[in-house]
Amino acid sequence: MTARILDGQKIRDQIFVELKEEIATLTAQGLRPGLAAVLVGDNPASQLYVKSKIAACEQLGMASWLHTPPATVTTREMLQLVDDMNGDNAVDGVLIQLPLPQQVDTKLILESVNPAKDVDGFHPMNLGKLVSGRPGLVACTPAGCMEILRRANIAIEGADAVVLGRSDIVGKPMALLLMHGNATVTICHSKTRDLPGTVRRADIIVAAMGKAGYVAAEWIKPGAAVIDVGTNRVTDLAEAERLFRNAPERLEKFRAKGSAVVGDVHPDAINIAGALTPVPGGVGPMTIAMLMSNTVKAARLRRGDASSRNPPQSSAIAR
Ligand code: NAP
Repeated sequence: MTARILDGQKIRDQIFVELKEEIATLTAQGLRPGLAAVLVGDNPASQLYVKSKIAACEQLGMASWLHTPPATVTTREMLQLVDDMNGDNAVDGVLIQLPLPQQVDTKLILESVNPAKDVDGFHPMNLGKLVSGRPGLVACTPAGCMEILRRANIAIEGADAVVLGRSDIVGKPMALLLMHGNATVTICHSKTRDLPGTVRRADIIVAAMGKAGYVAAEWIKPGAAVIDVGTNRVTDLAEAERLFRNAPERLEKFRAKGSAVVGDVHPDAINIAGALTPVPGGVGPMTIAMLMSNTVKAARLRRGDASSRNPPQSSAIAR
């Protein structure tokens, strides 16, 4: 069996088409959604992430602002900046790019964001809403995984789902979303005793551990749906040879480039799973799509236009 590839870029493109239309409608009503991003210091990876988020806003016709305090910024100054964004009615989403410098109290800053503008879904108020199944803003990566499952028509209700990883930003919200979708969910972590045996029972596997190719193809039940959140950069040749033993073209690319990005699931899973998100090109593109979707949702909910009382069925809004 060769798995159906769940192409995150294609799904992202579909969502962008839907969002663009919705943003144009909101803008015509005088409610142009807007995202304010804060990028502290000059971390190249953070710069790249923020740049792509601002570019997505521009592509969709959303307003955007970029604040770039120096790496020496204090907690007090950051709190003032968040306060300004919270108080600006044109700002629907506030995004604090992590990590923040050591001297800044990250938790305090994230908790100071108005929950109605918390488009990353990290605020305890939004996490609490997720736990109790009330509408709120949901963390983008798990929301993106759910959107992939839904759009690929993978049955969630009644399914045995296994989530590998229990972080606050991926594993825990993912497990809650699957549970609200009526799956029977098992959460695994580094102290789980029988990982292969647990994974083997799963109809849906969501891997978010940060361990390159850790989930062996043999652990996967034939036909299972595999959502691979892991994003791991491999630079070691022996590791690349282990991962790409049946993918000579990927090994060749690795040799030419000296590195490759792989998920938490061994690439051989493609011969056993029923459906699979590739890495790269699976969950990654969905995270930005859900950030845009959350910003539009925040605009509708907070500024209360007619469509928030009757949202379109086909909407890409993260639920
Ligand atoms: P994290 O905070 O480091 O959490 C990793 C989780 O995996 C922990 O719960 C840990 O268990 C568990 N784990 C580690 N080793 C394990 C093992 N051998 N067996 C079972 N469980 C194990 O990571 P994260 O922030 O959730 O991210 C996970 C991965 O997703 C990373 O590769 C990250 O780069 C990627 N990611 C991708 C996107 C995207 O947009 N594509 C977004 C976010 C994250 P303990 O709790 O017991 O330590």
